[in-house]
Amino acid sequence: MLNSNTQISAGDIAFCSVDHVIFHIHKANLELVSTGFPPATVHSDEIIPFDEEAETLEIFFSLVYPNCPLPHEFDRLTFTKLVKVTTPADKWGMHQALEICLGQFHKHIHLHQLEILELGGQHNHAPLVAAVAPYLVHLPLNKILSSLPYTLFKKWADYRERWIWALLSCYKDLDKHSGCSLWNSEVKPHLQVQLFGPCGYTTVLREGHDNQDQRTIGDRCAEVYIWLHAEKRHSEGLMCCETEIKNWKERTLQDLQSIPF
Ligand SMILES: [Zn+2]
Repeated sequence: MLNSNTQISAGDIAFCSVDHVIFHIHKANLELVSTGFPPATVHSDEIIPFDEEAETLEIFFSLVYPNCPLPHEFDRLTFTKLVKVTTPADKWGMHQALEICLGQFHKHIHLHQLEILELGGQHNHAPLVAAVAPYLVHLPLNKILSSLPYTLFKKWADYRERWIWALLSCYKDLDKHSGCSLWNSEVKPHLQVQLFGPCGYTTVLREGHDNQDQRTIGDRCAEVYIWLHAEKRHSEGLMCCETEIKNWKERTLQDLQSIPF
């Protein structure tokens, strides 16, 4: 139900959503939480129009009352709706509200990496950019350059370099099971090719997009594991190679996970 929050219906300044729902917000609160709202120019009999729909405004205006619990819907907003709530918080200079909104974007990283990178860069928000980095670190730096301010871009470049070094170290780590002939002749070359392809450039990631257009260490290991089982079911050394694939994957993921941003 709209306007269920009594404070949203009891204030002294009226706002109208694009779908014609009126909200009455307390001027004192607006002055307190916002640096971009010009209350001196607003008359009490004036109704200020908004481009957003009532559904968005109900959540947005709840951010004007920091001592009240946020509506349950706030935690379940889709990416698009969260952007709609964030936009006026940014426009009105509501720093605390903006921080709360940006924090919510972590929930959408598995589907919206590029948009969240832009948002993180736009607001110079290191935690968001750090969270998105494991999904996009394969992109060449020139694709990232325009999205980030200098300090974050520098952090990104450092992170990317450490990530490439970590992958090189994981590549060498494939030698740990060299005593096994099946590993040496079949499994290791298979994984090596998948880690650093013919162009010598890897796109393997720690975490992948939901649409799976980017392969992960987990995907690569699963593929080799399935292939090994199908092709070499009766080969000697199968068990030890299976165990080593699992161990190598865990070590690799741990190494990539420990790269600081
Ligand atoms: Zn083996």
